[in-house]
Amino acid sequence: MQVSILSTSDVHGYIRADDFRRPLLNNQLGFTRAATVIAAQQKQITDSGNVVVTIENGDFIQGSPLTNYIQKIVPEQTDMYQKLTDAVSYDVRILGNHEFNFGREYIEKVFSDTDNLLNANILDTQTQEPFVGQPYKIIERKGVKIGVIGLTTQFIPHWEQLSHIANLIFKDPVAVAERYIEKLRPQVDILILAYHGGFAEDLQTGEPLEKLTSENQGYQLLQLPGVDALVTGHQHREIADVVDGVPTTQPGYRGNYVGLMTLTLDDSNKRVSATAQILPTGESAERSDIVSLIDPLQKQVNDWLDTPVGHVGDNMQITDHFAARLHNHPFIELVNQVQMAATDTQISNTALFNNEVRGLTDAVTQRDIMTNYIFPNTLVVEALTGQDIKDALEVNARYFKLDDQGEVILNPLFTMPKVQHYNYDIWSGIDYTFDLTQPMGQRVIAIKKDGQPLDLAKTYEVTMNNYRAGGAGNFPMFSMDKAVREVQRETADLIGEYIMNHPHVHIEQPTNLTIIK
Ligand SMILES: [Zn+2]
Repeated sequence: MQVSILSTSDVHGYIRADDFRRPLLNNQLGFTRAATVIAAQQKQITDSGNVVVTIENGDFIQGSPLTNYIQKIVPEQTDMYQKLTDAVSYDVRILGNHEFNFGREYIEKVFSDTDNLLNANILDTQTQEPFVGQPYKIIERKGVKIGVIGLTTQFIPHWEQLSHIANLIFKDPVAVAERYIEKLRPQVDILILAYHGGFAEDLQTGEPLEKLTSENQGYQLLQLPGVDALVTGHQHREIADVVDGVPTTQPGYRGNYVGLMTLTLDDSNKRVSATAQILPTGESAERSDIVSLIDPLQKQVNDWLDTPVGHVGDNMQITDHFAARLHNHPFIELVNQVQMAATDTQISNTALFNNEVRGLTDAVTQRDIMTNYIFPNTLVVEALTGQDIKDALEVNARYFKLDDQGEVILNPLFTMPKVQHYNYDIWSGIDYTFDLTQPMGQRVIAIKKDGQPLDLAKTYEVTMNNYRAGGAGNFPMFSMDKAVREVQRETADLIGEYIMNHPHVHIEQPTNLTIIK
């Protein structure tokens, strides 16, 4: 007998094979494609006389224009989530951290008709019981008893607004899992942990890959005695591995992969071996019944995305990307201003990610914003010394080079072997000068804040995206150790909200970046 475990995680409201950007950037994704893969697997596994358990691992009700539209415009249609998950016949569902972005009451509303929600470690302060869902479920199929315990990262209070998580306690999922394993193990043949969280360690060596916090405790969960399989998510990584005989998966995000673990059981229904894989969904057809279910709403969302939210003037279009990076640009300054407003800081950096970014025309739609800010980045504030800022600017200054005639050109380091315009940041809140006649590493000759030279020993709060905040792109002076605040909302959403709240934005051409050649 074999028991297979299928999972989706971090679908984030990408139901159709449509990333909402225009022109479409990616359609190798979507819940409708994942559902096709799942249905085929479910059929194949049951037809062969084996057992399958299907798990939705969280971050399902937040993260796309569709989820925003449901929450803001048609809250009476939150039952769509139940219809969608019913169509896939999930055995259990888990809460993700982003489920909390619209507040506790919204979760209670969305999941009110859900009888298969598992939540073992987020408790109501008063009752000390799960505030929604059950801690575990025992599924009996073909004589095999399978226990599933549902767990969610305990790190949510580090990101979430207090009003969204009032009267909730986030318990350590490892300690909670241990307690329920002890209780369930004698009652079941197979025990699965479904955890909306990921890994901070290398799975084979146990070496930390990032600063160890309590955000991603998958590695600790895998080590717990009595666990037969671990479903993970949250990091949007593509992981399939077997560690000391115990399989684990993490199926990407937006429905681009489905996790599949297969346990082979002996005659007494004990696990004797296991495999893990992730199945790409991009080449599978969208499941037509789910397409029919979502399409009326999807069409409304697409109309909504094409409705102007405000005006930004006539200077936010980008035709010369090199010039925009060389002199800064009103569109880049807008992103920085939004970042500073959202995090309450006075210094920010961002990049013009690629040369397809066209900037904004005067009447701006939400779709224009998403198409111009393509990454699902969130914001991090780091406490940096003036020296850290100077060191980061030296990295930025490498983007440029002087040619034989003394003209500024793009440093080929940023195009070969890989095009990396997204690793050149442009700053706001400081005035800075690059002297390109100097060698790399000695080009930042002046940095001023409020007209005064930046104090290299003093600490400043700087807002940047979560990708950069981890140091990615050769910025060792940035690290999550230095993070003092985070805003776990997508920057494109924040830009849209900012323009809605300031319907006539006007930003002059910035003059804070000076280039000497
Ligand atoms: Zn997620």
